[in-house]
Amino acid sequence: MPKRPVEEPHIASAEPTLRLILRRLRETMAETDDGQRRLDKIVRLVSGLMVAEVCSIYLKRQDHSLELFATEGLNPAAVHNLFMKRGEGLVGRCAELAVPVNEPDAQAHPAFSFRPETGEEIYHSFLAVPILRSGDVLGVLTVQNKTLRHYSDDDVEALQTTAMVLAEHLVTGTVASTTGAAIRAIDDLVRGQAIAEGIALGHVVLHAPRVAVTELVATDVAHEVERLEAAIGELKATLDALMNQSHLARAGEHRDVLEAYRMFANDRGWQRRLVEAVRSGLTAEGAVDQVQNRTRARMLRLQDPFWRDRLRDLDDLSDRLLRVLVSATGNDAARQELPHDTIIVARSMGAADLLDYDRDRLKGLVIEESSSHSHVAIVARALGIAAVGGARGIMERVEPGSPIIVDAEAGEIYIRPSSQVVSVYADKARFRARRQRQYDALRDRPAVTRDGVRVELHINAGLPVDLAHIEESGADGIGLYRTELQFMIAPSLPRLERQAATYRAVLDAAGDRPVVFRTLDIGGDKVLPYLRSTLEENPALGWRGVRLALDRPALLQTQIRAMIRAADGRPLTIMVPMVSERAEIEAVRSLIEGELQRADRRGHRVPSRLKVGIMIEVPSLLFALDEVMEVVDFVSIGSNDLMQYLYAADRGNERVGSRFDALSAPFLRALRSIVRAGHRHSRPVSLCGELGGRPLEAVALVALGLRSLSMAPASIGPVKAMLLSLDVGRAAAHVDKIIDSSSASLRDELLRFAENEGLEI
Ligand code: PEP
Ligand code: MG
Repeated sequence: MPKRPVEEPHIASAEPTLRLILRRLRETMAETDDGQRRLDKIVRLVSGLMVAEVCSIYLKRQDHSLELFATEGLNPAAVHNLFMKRGEGLVGRCAELAVPVNEPDAQAHPAFSFRPETGEEIYHSFLAVPILRSGDVLGVLTVQNKTLRHYSDDDVEALQTTAMVLAEHLVTGTVASTTGAAIRAIDDLVRGQAIAEGIALGHVVLHAPRVAVTELVATDVAHEVERLEAAIGELKATLDALMNQSHLARAGEHRDVLEAYRMFANDRGWQRRLVEAVRSGLTAEGAVDQVQNRTRARMLRLQDPFWRDRLRDLDDLSDRLLRVLVSATGNDAARQELPHDTIIVARSMGAADLLDYDRDRLKGLVIEESSSHSHVAIVARALGIAAVGGARGIMERVEPGSPIIVDAEAGEIYIRPSSQVVSVYADKARFRARRQRQYDALRDRPAVTRDGVRVELHINAGLPVDLAHIEESGADGIGLYRTELQFMIAPSLPRLERQAATYRAVLDAAGDRPVVFRTLDIGGDKVLPYLRSTLEENPALGWRGVRLALDRPALLQTQIRAMIRAADGRPLTIMVPMVSERAEIEAVRSLIEGELQRADRRGHRVPSRLKVGIMIEVPSLLFALDEVMEVVDFVSIGSNDLMQYLYAADRGNERVGSRFDALSAPFLRALRSIVRAGHRHSRPVSLCGELGGRPLEAVALVALGLRSLSMAPASIGPVKAMLLSLDVGRAAAHVDKIIDSSSASLRDELLRFAENEGLEI
């Protein structure tokens, strides 16, 4: 029978205990500067004040194991001799998950790891909190009691605050150096993920190394509340000023990003948590630090990249608030004299901070925590700088001014590169620049093959910043406008007028060139925070694209209405994603018809010509092509999704995402059947997945009969260069010969063909 925990009366109410702990900690820090003695004193102090028989500090080592550094109550001989493997026991669990672990009967817990050398078998109740600093877990602080005690929320709060003070001490004090020296090697290689394409050689500028909060304990609470409120007011004013800067006022997505910041700055919950923290006895800086640490701990636990990025915005806002409180000078790193080849290295960074830097001197960006969906990645792409995210541990390995190379093709970063590596990359960068100049020279040449076949090359777009690329790349139009991106970066559902303004700007920028607007492709992993959705076990196969749109018709109706308004009498092309059966197209068509009639009734100009098409992404359509072609004006192959569904291989899963080759005969045969169905019904077929942007793959696509491809703007040049050197007739004959004779990849065969033909690949 499990023993029942007893609710033990706490020695005193939380607030006085917390304040007492903070005051005594400050005194302890002042008494000695010997790292080990301080830790010994801290565990004694905490165990006394929290009426705990045991208090211990475990610190993380470089291999992520935890070492017992100090204890009151456990066997002293275990200090520096007890190591817990990564994730081992309840202490390891606390460190891995970055959450408190509160167990009335720890020994009954399945994760409990019994270590006889500690003498802890007599203790039952166990409370552990992570020692967090800038979102990193430095170690774990624990208390234990013999009785089956359920630690109260106030106990947890007190221990967390102690851990926060301890974290400051660890970073600024002498103990940190014993946990592992930073590596200072040349050619130190760090891997991450490319989040904005390019190659950059330059020198490190550390982004806003976090403000060190030294005064954590308040002496005058009322004064601290006043300081906090004044700083929040100032923060809001700087955000307003940033939004009014002329170059930001123009660029749409920057404004959306800043709007999101403003929303957080006005969030009452955030402000309330800050004020409560000050009232518990912390300084205004201490309160920001505490609330920020919790945000970061939540961030560590979240799987959903969308929400992690939103929390990162909040984290960035806290950084800004800290800087207002400490120095009132904003982003110091951005204001210093920057080298002409600045590569910013940051632990985490908000989009607004990146915009603070002089873009003429900015060449690259490396961030420890960031995904390609984050706001800062979107802005980095907009600024055209090479950026790599997810570069774990880089902050510890660089110093300001260190030479560095960012390879945002391979997702690699070289710190203090040797002269050989520098010369290889300098060559690469020169080569890229030369190639770029060659592509620029092709800008105004139509893509006509050697045997006179014209292939249309369009760009995929989704943000206002992409619009400049239509002109720059010399594209024939926009073959895929991903409307969901506007929804994903907005703080709340964009209303009709806002959507219409975006679509109008797209049509204006495209001029006479065609634009294909894809209706919202949200759901699955593209989550909108303001749209309630249920958690799905298998989101790629879930409630997404047209399925969601038909279940929430108001969303789709508003979007169609906005498109009709934006077209204002011009031609309009609408494309529907994730269609699985003919009935879905018919339902969308009748909804569009309703909107046209409504616009007409209300005196709005209806489009001079309306085309409605679908994406072919779901394999069921491969077996219903004739029925589908009858009810559409065109189709576009979404090869990213079609490939993932045909091969049952998650496109975002590194292990399987590139396991199967899109140049395999079965996949090419599927594409061939779509092209043939298009011919039978005189319906244009294009392709807008990543495939179309790769020159060798494009050889196969035009050989199969595709005459329209849509791709990332940067791919237009390379694909056009290939097409100008291609004889389609010969390519088609070659593919015809090999496509039915094997079920394997045709890549090698195609490469040989390209070599023999002297194609520009
Ligand atoms: C596709 O699936 O190929 C496609 C272009 O759509 P997305 O990548 O936006 O899912
Ligand atoms: Mg798709």
